[in-house]
Amino acid sequence: MKIEGNHLERRQRPYAEILLANKAWAKNMVEKDAEYFKRLALGQYPDYLWIGCSDSRVPAAGVSQTEPGELFVHRNIANQVITNDFNLMSVVKYAVDYLNVKHIVVCGHYGCGGVIAAMNNNTDKYLGDWLTGIKDSYKRNRAELDTFTDEKEKINRMCEINVERQIEKLASSSLIQKAWRKGKELQLHGWIFDLETGLINPLTDVVGNPNT
Ligand SMILES: [Zn+2]
Repeated sequence: MKIEGNHLERRQRPYAEILLANKAWAKNMVEKDAEYFKRLALGQYPDYLWIGCSDSRVPAAGVSQTEPGELFVHRNIANQVITNDFNLMSVVKYAVDYLNVKHIVVCGHYGCGGVIAAMNNNTDKYLGDWLTGIKDSYKRNRAELDTFTDEKEKINRMCEINVERQIEKLASSSLIQKAWRKGKELQLHGWIFDLETGLINPLTDVVGNPNT
């Protein structure tokens, strides 16, 4: 099948259409299971915390085929784990200490715009600073990355390094270290989503405490 153009078209969907689609979805769910939303409203017991990129093409529930109630989600540009980011760390704290999730997934994706911007040393206000960690990783891994002659492969390897680095930071964070020290059953998984195949490629797993 031939693909026209080289990117997704902007859909220009009127917002009213989204509200109508929501009504149709809710009606359909109730028709299939009259108690569905009543049960959903009672509480959440997700096993997974998903830390992903804000990219519109990588919806957490969509690519993981999970139902409402299964994923606790945090997304930011280039799926960064920054341990003084109150937004992220309060999500991790709640997920680990209150929801007792069993798995934390950091899911990046190939061709990530945030990673590319960092590799190009973006200095936009906010954006450039948000990407500082990736800029540093890029510098540290230049020897390996410069062996790639194909620019796309080089970017994709940097996207993988970025995910692996976020897992390392999460594993070293006081919050996760403390959870493991208390004997909490908690695994960290670094995954990367391939936009060209729709498949998730698992990169790294951390089970238990790597520092003991
Ligand atoms: Zn991205």
